[in-house]
Amino acid sequence: MSGKVILKEGREKPVRQRHPWIFGGAIGRIEDSVQDGGVADIVAANGAFLGRGYVNRRSQIVVRLLTWREEEAVDEAFWRGRLKRAIDARPAQEDACRLVNAESDGLPGLVVDRYGQWLVVQSLTLGIEQHKPLIAQALADLFEGKGLKGIYERSDVDVREKEGLGETTGLLWGAEPPELIQISERSAEGQPVQMLVDIRKGQKTGYYLDQRENRRRTAQRCRGAEVLNLFSYTGGFAAHALAAGARRVISVDSSAEALAMARRNLELNGFTTSDDDFVVGNVFEVLRRYRAEERHFDAIILDPPKLAFTAAQVDRAARAYKDLNMVSMQILKPDGILATFSCSGRVSADLFQKIVFGASVDAGREAQILEKLSHPPDHPVMLSFPEGEYLKGLICRVY
Ligand code: SAH
Repeated sequence: MSGKVILKEGREKPVRQRHPWIFGGAIGRIEDSVQDGGVADIVAANGAFLGRGYVNRRSQIVVRLLTWREEEAVDEAFWRGRLKRAIDARPAQEDACRLVNAESDGLPGLVVDRYGQWLVVQSLTLGIEQHKPLIAQALADLFEGKGLKGIYERSDVDVREKEGLGETTGLLWGAEPPELIQISERSAEGQPVQMLVDIRKGQKTGYYLDQRENRRRTAQRCRGAEVLNLFSYTGGFAAHALAAGARRVISVDSSAEALAMARRNLELNGFTTSDDDFVVGNVFEVLRRYRAEERHFDAIILDPPKLAFTAAQVDRAARAYKDLNMVSMQILKPDGILATFSCSGRVSADLFQKIVFGASVDAGREAQILEKLSHPPDHPVMLSFPEGEYLKGLICRVY
């Protein structure tokens, strides 16, 4: 018997609207038979069925809903069905893409990325943790006959702490992955761009798959340009810009390892590089140095890491975004291109645009938006879950 979670009077509206989270404050009582990590029925104060989800009393988000249909049991067939639905929605020809985007694919707490013949799983909650063996087997079965070699776990993320979980990584199924996996991405010009991905130790699940489409869109604006690629990581934007005909790309990152991999990636694609194309340093400082040296660029790509993790950090993050964008605009040549991004969910697209506007005012430059960028379709956002929206970008021309 799984038991019930009974909401407080008047707290059912977000659940009825299919928001997948229930915070502790909305909950009246949890029956003793409900186990943390297990699935329970969620009912209104008057006993009416609202949905079914997994529970963790230790988390601020006590329930994550899996279904709002009373007739839909959360059994093995349910998990297999949800995984199949998510995977079937992805284009099969894509070599690397996100297969499962957590809440927005009806599988809260679960991320699955595909890199060629390898899958990388991220389990963010106790509910997923307890269903992990089942999920790994279901994934293996869904890829049967398709050459899948292994499923590797990268649950080394600190949000797990909020669920009472430690970090864990390792093989879930199949063979140990090689040190580097080569994936092939379509460039703006149509020819493939090869990238090496370290799924064991790289950032996130190894690569920033969410910027895939935006790299192509940005690259198209870099033909013939001398490009400054800020927060480069392993050179995704640089490789695509060069493939689209950029004259030169200088990549900056604080991680020397990331830049070493960026150089390998560019060389793998047949581009010649020099030591000066890779600058290990703090972007905030490097930008100021370039401004002092009066160095100018035709195009600047600005893709900082997440800068706001909580509502309280939004103001500080806004100042940091403004600073980065302002100095970037100051060192752009007239008619230059600025491709600027924010992956902080707390900073809305509206706010981000206002910040970039403020930066242009302070830089004394007029800027026009050429393109607004967001998530690729393999990072869908559930309408009932706007929290799932985090990535936004603007390609601007700066006069
Ligand atoms: N543009 C990349 C992804 C960027 S992720 C891509 O397309 O794949 C953010 C990167 O910023 C990380 O590689 C991290 O090492 C780097 N980073 C974080 N803070 C930094 C700072 N202050 N200065 C320079 N690099 C920084």
